[in-house]
Amino acid sequence: MTLEQTLPLCIAGTWRLGGGARYATCYPATGEPVAWLNAASLDDVEAAVQGAHQAFLHSGWAQRKPHERAAVLYRIAGLIRERAEELAQLQRQDNGKPINETRALVASAAGTFQFFAAACETLEETITPSRGDFVSMSLYEPMGVVAAITPWNSPIASEAQKVAPALAAGNAVVIKPAEITPLLALQLARICDDAGLPKGLVSVLPGKGSLLGDALTRHPLVKRVSFTGGTGTGKHIAHIAADKMMPVSLELGGKSPTIVLEDADLDHAVAGVLYGIFSSSGEACIAGSRLFVARKLYEPFMARLTAAAAQLRLGDPADERTQMGPLISAAHRESVERYVALGLAAGGRLRLGGQRPSGGLFDQGYFYPPTILEGLGNQQQVCQEEIFGPVLVAMPFDSEAELVEQANDSLYALAAGIWSRDYKRAWALGRKLQAGTVWINTYKQFSISTPFGGWRDSGLGREKGRLGILQYMEQKSLYWGMNEQPLAWAGVEAGQ
Ligand code: NAD
Repeated sequence: MTLEQTLPLCIAGTWRLGGGARYATCYPATGEPVAWLNAASLDDVEAAVQGAHQAFLHSGWAQRKPHERAAVLYRIAGLIRERAEELAQLQRQDNGKPINETRALVASAAGTFQFFAAACETLEETITPSRGDFVSMSLYEPMGVVAAITPWNSPIASEAQKVAPALAAGNAVVIKPAEITPLLALQLARICDDAGLPKGLVSVLPGKGSLLGDALTRHPLVKRVSFTGGTGTGKHIAHIAADKMMPVSLELGGKSPTIVLEDADLDHAVAGVLYGIFSSSGEACIAGSRLFVARKLYEPFMARLTAAAAQLRLGDPADERTQMGPLISAAHRESVERYVALGLAAGGRLRLGGQRPSGGLFDQGYFYPPTILEGLGNQQQVCQEEIFGPVLVAMPFDSEAELVEQANDSLYALAAGIWSRDYKRAWALGRKLQAGTVWINTYKQFSISTPFGGWRDSGLGREKGRLGILQYMEQKSLYWGMNEQPLAWAGVEAGQ
């Protein structure tokens, strides 16, 4: 790939230039172009969906035995691993995450394909207890064309979480990656080709979501949308889906509480809170962005946390020691800055950060330092809205009842963290928190075998888990008559 080239898109089994406007994806650490491509056009959406539909009907993919489909998915996992370093470096450039993080995302994508290959070849259908002269079965069928719409913050891992189960289930997939981070989805399509997946089963449509994502969602041949992104966009998609009676899964935003109880192991809690909010520069749906600390412990804990946060290595994403890279774009950094200004205007105090760093790379890219605000209540806008950046709001709490009320007082309910040595208390508290995922004495840890998703404005449906494949299948009940005689109701006797 050279900068002079315009990258082709993968549309309906062919690699060709998109029909939309030419644009560059840029490296957030320098603002310089990484690659040029033409966005997809509405005609490309139509071609991709029609091509996917034809591939679904005629490629024989859906009819292949589960172990045969699994073999292709294992090959995809293998190719991702073979090309891991190249993919991780490309992703670092595409979205500015530190190289160690992009390596982990690529490894996770390979693991996801491997996992859903296994889920595919071990999926069991059931014979249900019969209440008549028939054998009754509960079976699963693929849906047809599935749309996978993904955000910019964890490319390849996000796409894998949708594409792997959708293909495992026998479907065709049209991927709509975020406009600003399209490169890994295109690489994934190339890998699918190289692994021998029938042509047309995977297409990739980079470009504006409000145009392409919307058209894809509305398309009558699209039978399911799996979406990860902002809550506003998710609600828009849910409305379209309601009109089509189409199933959707929505992985949306968060404003997750992390809670430090008086008896927490401070070394563990400091490390976990730091990782929870500042890794990925806070550009994570599950970022632990609201911190509640037992009042007795508040000052000593905050002193340690602040000192440790000040030591985090912000800088060049290519450097293996870097812990925080730049934010995704200039516009996003401005949005983070506006939230910090809002917090200060509401009476908050800066305990750390809050100023753009300067000098060297910092003058080129969209860097923002770890920032801690305090002196604010949970009702403030900075505690209620997702900032999606390295901004932690810290608050002391007095009683557990008050803590639970505040922790749950959010439109979002994606994740929560608890730090305590008292396992019974942590367990009881974990049951009271309203969130799709609760971590006790750890944070931001994932397993592909454990379902993930949010409550309330954080989403609908679950991804991952062995049964995640069923999200991409329709359930069918099949009755197989075993009658020796015609059905009695009609009064027809056998042999007459
Ligand atoms: P976004 O909602 O702006 O965009 C997400 C995707 O939707 C992009 O591909 C975009 O082009 C597309 N899109 C935009 N408008 C659309 C429309 N009208 N119809 C169809 N598609 C449309 O989100 P973003 O800024 O890319 O990502 C950040 C958000 O994603 C944050 O809110 C974050 O919390 C959320 N997120 C959630 C999870 C999760 O698993 N819950 C994971 C990662 C990110």
